[in-house]
Amino acid sequence: MSKKVFIAGTELAGIGYANGISTQLAEKQEKSGPEAELSAAERQRIIKNASKHFGKFLSALGCNWEEDPNSADTPNRVAKAYVNDLWRGRYESLGKITAFPSDGYAGMVQESNIPMSSQCSHHHQSIGGKVAIAYISSSRGKVVGLSKMNRIVEQFARRGAIQEQLTVAIHNAVDKICEGNLGVAVHISATHSCVSCRGIKHQGASMQTAKITGAFFDNPETRSEFYKNIELANNLK
Ligand SMILES: [Zn+2]
Repeated sequence: MSKKVFIAGTELAGIGYANGISTQLAEKQEKSGPEAELSAAERQRIIKNASKHFGKFLSALGCNWEEDPNSADTPNRVAKAYVNDLWRGRYESLGKITAFPSDGYAGMVQESNIPMSSQCSHHHQSIGGKVAIAYISSSRGKVVGLSKMNRIVEQFARRGAIQEQLTVAIHNAVDKICEGNLGVAVHISATHSCVSCRGIKHQGASMQTAKITGAFFDNPETRSEFYKNIELANNLK
């Protein structure tokens, strides 16, 4: 076998928890196996049910949404946005990510400035920023196609998260998929609407988180190469 498919082992959070898969997808996978996905009809049922309850939420807030032409379809719009975009990663699995033999390449592989859109699980406000991911492949280990790193970010960011947890989830997935790696580093820099739009209301504050393991943790030079690469990538923009 020149390539191997990885699916399992990338989930960290509890079913239905922030940054976990939905209870509906988990139920389906329990019945039909770990590769089962929700059908279009099943997703539609979730949207319909969520829409009904969001309507009640608006009514409780004193919003006469049914009479207002701008709000009449809002419960349906909001439910659709959650299932298809904002929490998309809860309703579909990471799927097949093929890892290839590194063919003797023993060194750092890094992608920086991966766009990240998420939603904080405390306030359901948007989080937006950039992710840098690096791993060190061993000469007999595995490497993945670069865009798979973007896909891993999409999968876990599109669920709702706190940034610390998202950092760990991405790190865990890369670590699992890049078999035989000698270290993984993940860095996220992001702004949070729950800081800028509510509560303290401070515009422009950003949050940096990192999870650094293996050679990146043990060797300060490897670690500083990771951060230098993020700067280099910023200079390319
Ligand atoms: Zn928040």
